[in-house]
Amino acid sequence: QKKFFRTRAHSNVLNANDFWFPASPTAVPLHEYFPSLCPSPSPAAPHVEMVDVGCGYGSLLLELARLFPTQLILGIEIRPKVVEYVQRKVLALRHEAREPRAAAAAAAAAAAVAMANPETAGARHASRARDGSWLTYDNVWAVHNNAMRFLPNFFQRGQLTKLFFCFADPHFKRKNHRKRVITPALLAEYAFVLKPAGLVYCITDVAELMTWMVGHLSSSPLFERLDNAALQADPTVPILIQTDEGLKVMRNNGNMYIAVYRKRLDPLAP
Ligand code: SAM
Repeated sequence: QKKFFRTRAHSNVLNANDFWFPASPTAVPLHEYFPSLCPSPSPAAPHVEMVDVGCGYGSLLLELARLFPTQLILGIEIRPKVVEYVQRKVLALRHEAREPRAAAAAAAAAAAVAMANPETAGARHASRARDGSWLTYDNVWAVHNNAMRFLPNFFQRGQLTKLFFCFADPHFKRKNHRKRVITPALLAEYAFVLKPAGLVYCITDVAELMTWMVGHLSSSPLFERLDNAALQADPTVPILIQTDEGLKVMRNNGNMYIAVYRKRLDPLAP
């Protein structure tokens, strides 16, 4: 499994910041990220549909894998050690799912914990999807990369259904605002890789950052904001707080702000 942990794996181009990236989306080695679902390099293989930008330690990825067990989900994270942690965790969960005895023992232990203390029942990552099927975590992976630079190398135009920006770095100083993950130039890139009606999910505990993100997204002709009724109807919204940062904010009783935008079908309409 060692090949997964090399930060320069799977790439054929080197840039000035020493990041490797695929020359084009067709060069993304899905067969290495999702070997059970994309066993060989093939244009007919399923493609990634959801991306968690700056996935950190990957808790949201695992929740997404549970909610959408048949769709490919990728995290992009700039810190190599953190990516390595997520990859090891996913490999361990996949292994557990393939080892019936280990899985049965783990499920029994989780059930015992759940009976003893229902509040901690969710602490261990679930072994069943919401539809009751067994989870294999074959559909989730994380890669080391700079999501603010190389998204179009990874994803075709109109490929993604969902993009997540959870607890992005706030970059408080004015001179660093250009480093924020939502800027007009990057919004054009996000709209490029999203399907029509694809969704951008933003959550943060920093009110100033939410004001910034909402300001840019709302003034972009490419996106429209979902109203509260749409948020309540979307099963993805409740799991946004299940990121590692979100759980930390929750433990400290902090505020969290959520906004979801849809890529417009008619970006040129007034
Ligand atoms: N989303 C996770 C969560 O909610 O727990 C992590 C939030 S943490 C505050 C922000 C994460 O974004 C960090 O893990 C950081 O390394 C990552 N990050 C920052 N800039 C990035 C970039 N350009 N590309 C990919 N990841 C980035």
